[in-house]
Amino acid sequence: MLRMFFKRIVQHLFPRHCPICKEITVGSDAAQLCADCAMVFEADLLLRCPVCRLAASECICTPGRLKRFTDKIDGHRVFTTAFYQPGERSSYVNKLIYALKNDPEDTAARIFAQMMSHEILLRFTKSGKDIREWIITYPPRREEKVDDIGFDQAERLAQMCAEYTGARFAILLARYGGKEQKSLNRAEREANMKNAFYLKKPRSLQGARVILCDDVLTTGATLTACASLLKEAGAKEIVIVTAAKTVRREKTEKVVSDMSWFTEE
Ligand SMILES: [Zn+2]
Ligand SMILES: [Zn+2]
Repeated sequence: MLRMFFKRIVQHLFPRHCPICKEITVGSDAAQLCADCAMVFEADLLLRCPVCRLAASECICTPGRLKRFTDKIDGHRVFTTAFYQPGERSSYVNKLIYALKNDPEDTAARIFAQMMSHEILLRFTKSGKDIREWIITYPPRREEKVDDIGFDQAERLAQMCAEYTGARFAILLARYGGKEQKSLNRAEREANMKNAFYLKKPRSLQGARVILCDDVLTTGATLTACASLLKEAGAKEIVIVTAAKTVRREKTEKVVSDMSWFTEE
């Protein structure tokens, strides 16, 4: 009774907001959308991959360059929860990714981290792996960016996934200054990425098992640069977990226009 009372007070003083529409949410769950946004978001999660035709959590597509430095667990090198569609304004996945990157309130991060942790635990359990033997880490953002926004969304996700799954959180990677990725083309991105990161503790990774956690997988340049560093330092197994994978609009449109976009639950 008393706990309920305090909970109410805390909620009143620090109300949480739906990260998409900014309405105040009711209830004690720190990781929730309002009911209206939740409905559309969940429908958007059913979008199929234009390549393998599976939903995001089942999608087995991986950028080729990433394959050399990652391993498979339950058939997946990349665990993800949703498809990010650049330029698609009506996508509620896009809206939640935007909140993940920009909203100081951590609700969007909690929502994605819960879904990501579900994928991790599901696939680890299926293949008899012990999550407690694994480290979760992330590719850090550029320092200026973190100063600008006030947090690093990949770090948030990695910390929360560690908390939800029981894996150990560690900061293994650091970043040199460098040009902003967004303004570069594909080839420049890769060249820029290759030398963007370094290991914090170069010799401590012999035999380590690492889950590399990030917000969105697009070309895989960032994650490839990080995974190759970890492998070189002796990491035995590496898998990737991201909140979302990017699919191109022109490719999904074809899928949207036929009815296979939505599936029965
Ligand atoms: Zn909402
Ligand atoms: Zn796919």
